[in-house]
Amino acid sequence: MQMDKPSSRVDSPFLFRYYGSIRLRLVEVVALDCIFCKIAQGSIPSNKIFENDKVVAFYDIQPAAPVHALIIPRKHIESMNDVQEEDWEDIAEIHRVAQKLAKDLGVAETGYRLVNNCGKDSGQVVFHFHFHLLGGSKLGPANSQE
Ligand code: 5GP
Ligand code: ZN
Repeated sequence: MQMDKPSSRVDSPFLFRYYGSIRLRLVEVVALDCIFCKIAQGSIPSNKIFENDKVVAFYDIQPAAPVHALIIPRKHIESMNDVQEEDWEDIAEIHRVAQKLAKDLGVAETGYRLVNNCGKDSGQVVFHFHFHLLGGSKLGPANSQE
């Protein structure tokens, strides 16, 4: 999408940015440049495993286990800290899809881990809320510390 450079207006310096006559909330401006939003929209490629109106699942580009999928809400939410009351249905849906994918990807019986990284100490790199679904071999300790 081609857009004008944003301009500021005195009446809403923090919450909004204006692109010509288009007003976007800051969260929407951030989403325009978010790699996982682009994957969800299909504007950059990924190996998608599943999608519906609420969530998208695709393989991690740098797998840390034989099975390593990422499950994300379509909505741009930066982290667990930013989940709003109206988002819990989407987060529940992520868990429903994780259970289904664990079966489909053959790790339901052998075991798997569902991981969410939140913030600096967790090592979160992509600030679009996501769960990692990891399995397919014996995993290391979940509570490791550097
Ligand atoms: P985090 O540390 O934020 O919880 O994990 C982000 C994950 O996203 C990493 O495991 C990383 O390999 C994965 N990732 C980053 N960029 C891309 C991408 O463009 N495509 C895919 N499929 N995975 C990505
Ligand atoms: Zn996003």
